[in-house]
Amino acid sequence: MVPYEVHNAPVAGTAPMRRDTFLAMRRGAARRCPSCGEGQLFRSYLKQVDHCAICREELGHISADDGPTWLTVLIVGHLIVAMVLTIDGWAGWPMWVSMTVYPLAAAAMALGLLPIAKGVFIGAIWASEGRQAAAE
Ligand SMILES: [Zn+2]
Repeated sequence: MVPYEVHNAPVAGTAPMRRDTFLAMRRGAARRCPSCGEGQLFRSYLKQVDHCAICREELGHISADDGPTWLTVLIVGHLIVAMVLTIDGWAGWPMWVSMTVYPLAAAAMALGLLPIAKGVFIGAIWASEGRQAAAE
C-alpha cells in the first residue's frame, strides 16, 4: 500500500510521495491549506494566500481559473430550478415576490458556495501537482 502524504514537508533525500486528493479537496472546501489542513487558504474572500502560515506550502501559484465558477453555477442552477418548481407549485406567490426571492437566493447561494468551490479546486490541483512530481 502506498503511504499518503498528509504533510508536504520535504524530507531531504526522499522521493516525493503521493498526495491524498480527497483529503486535499476536503481541506480546501473547509478553506484550509490542502497540505496541513490548519493554515488559512484565503487571505480575503477569494484571494488565496501565497503560502501556508503553518506549513509554508506554496499555494499562490495555483490557478483554479473558471473551475470554481463552473461548479458554483452548476450547483446553484440546479438548486434554484428545483426551488422554483417546488415552491411555485404550492405557494402561488405573486410575480414580484418570485422575481425578488429567487435572484436573491441564487446570489446568496453563489456567494456562499464560490469560496468552497475554489478551495475544492485548489486542493485537487495541489494534489495533482504532487502526483506529477512523484511520477517524475
Ligand atoms: Zn499548511
